[in-house]
Amino acid sequence: MTVDHRQPRATNVTPDLAAASHAELLRRGAERLRRDDPTLSRLLDHEVAYQSHTLPMVAHASLADPSVLSAAGSALANVTAEGYPGARFHPGAAQFDAVERLAVHRAERAFGAQYANLQPHSCSSANLAVLFTLLEPGDVVLSLDLDSGGHLTHGAPASVTGRYFRVINYGLDPDGWISHDQAAELAREHRPKLIIAGASAYPRTIDYVRFREIADSVGAYLLADVSHIAGLVAVGLHPSPVDVAHVTTTSTYKQLGGPRGGIILLGQDRSTPVRTHGTSLEKLMKRSVFPRFQGTPSPAAIAAKARALDLVTQPEFAGTVGRIATNATRLAAALMARDWRVLTGGTDNHMVLLDTWKRGITGAVAESALQECGILANKNRIPGDSKPPLITSGLRLGTNILAQRGLRPAEMDSCAALVDQVLRGVEVLGDKEYRLANNTRDRVRTRVQELCRRYPIPSYQTGYG
Ligand SMILES: *Cc1c(COP(=O)(O)O)cnc(C)c1O
Repeated sequence: MTVDHRQPRATNVTPDLAAASHAELLRRGAERLRRDDPTLSRLLDHEVAYQSHTLPMVAHASLADPSVLSAAGSALANVTAEGYPGARFHPGAAQFDAVERLAVHRAERAFGAQYANLQPHSCSSANLAVLFTLLEPGDVVLSLDLDSGGHLTHGAPASVTGRYFRVINYGLDPDGWISHDQAAELAREHRPKLIIAGASAYPRTIDYVRFREIADSVGAYLLADVSHIAGLVAVGLHPSPVDVAHVTTTSTYKQLGGPRGGIILLGQDRSTPVRTHGTSLEKLMKRSVFPRFQGTPSPAAIAAKARALDLVTQPEFAGTVGRIATNATRLAAALMARDWRVLTGGTDNHMVLLDTWKRGITGAVAESALQECGILANKNRIPGDSKPPLITSGLRLGTNILAQRGLRPAEMDSCAALVDQVLRGVEVLGDKEYRLANNTRDRVRTRVQELCRRYPIPSYQTGYG
């Protein structure tokens, strides 16, 4: 009798060959990484330690809950599935269908949206999908310029968006406020087809209603990009553009504590017909992400978005975001009290913009000196900036992670004092060169360590339940 060894005999199939759970798989993965790839494993451990021992006063980041990190590392990463739930171009996507539907549902609930597309790999991809679908090459776009706080994808010359469209910029007044009147005037003069309201470095409330009026007055679409303020928008601490703009986009890793990624949201304009395409805005946005701009979505990233968006609707998130805003107001006041020029004289969101050049320090020097002391804040161009982009005249601070760590407004005075000590202690030698006295550095580092110990990231600490 011959036995076909290619065919497992029925008795070889162990009835208890149960699949590992998601948790077991991740645990095994972490163990193997430590055992088989100590080099990479050590780098990853150091990153957790670094994040625990620095004071990130940056505006663009937040900490992802370990459950978000876990979802991002799930076996869904092995699933390939072009298309949307129920209409995939590949088999085997039943679980992913359910996960993507859940993520969409949670995004709609978190933002009160009528349509959400969770597939964009980033907000840059989301913006490109929107711009290149609603516009033809050469069409006019009206947006805030990069130097005034706009984003690359809003038509900056260095971005593909700046090459394919005719970009007109509205700007800021000398104190740093968006000039809506100038935007209205430019719209009348240049008849844009799309207006973008949104910024990466703007500390004040954005008046979407006014922008929609301006857009309607010239028959333009309005795109609101809430990447930086998505948390404030979700909890109602910044007016929501979802039912005001035609389309809203966001990153998921900034204030939302999610994975790298983007989302496109539609509100009451979901069914609005798009003249040039003979279809609704919703159908067009769907098509614009896939197949126009992306191939396969990232199923594990979408699972992580679903997890983060669930957290966004919890009461604790609203509490944290509330603290983000009150902390930023207090931080701005404390810096002004120490004679630093804060653009617009304060903030409505999580962000504080400093004019460091007014005191002879470039943004590059400020960023490096602070980093030496364990404080992270990034150099940033400010209105009328005469320095190149890698030097700049300003500094952008943010309170997302400080609030996540539990720091309260009272501690913002300490944080402002530390920033002030470092910047006052800097001996400027050039646009990038400086000296910082050892005792200043040591004193500030010690204080930073004390703050980090007093306000740990509980779920990133060892021994946490
Ligand atoms: C960060 C940012 C983006 C880009 O987001 P990515 O997900 O990093 O591509 C787009 N728009 C604004 C306003 C941003 O701040």
